Amino acid sequence: MTYVIAEPCVGTKDASCQAVCPVACIIDVGDHFAIDPNRCVDCGACVSACPVSAVFAADRLPTEWADWTERNRRAAADAAPRGRGGARDREPC
Ligand code: SF4
Ligand code: SF4
Repeated sequence: MTYVIAEPCVGTKDASCQAVCPVACIIDVGDHFAIDPNRCVDCGACVSACPVSAVFAADRLPTEWADWTERNRRAAADAAPRGRGGARDREPC
């Protein structure tokens, strides 16, 4: 499982979640933040830190934001530098 940042982050982006994440797997991907599912350790610290309730465990994500699991995964993969164990390293060429 992983945690997912959903639509309420757009327009807020205060980075409170980033400040509490013990593994630094929350990244700024433009108009919102995203969680790298390959590095998230499922601690849940980011959920209560978010002032707009944008963070959910993947299995508790509201259905209207179901596509945000993939949006987080893809955004994290696009942002991961090659050669440092990022998500891109595990994708086929
Ligand atoms: S659940 Fe924990 S490890 Fe995962 S993004 Fe949130 S703070 Fe980081
Ligand atoms: S704390 Fe919430 S609103 Fe702020 S950056 Fe994180 S997910 Fe977005």
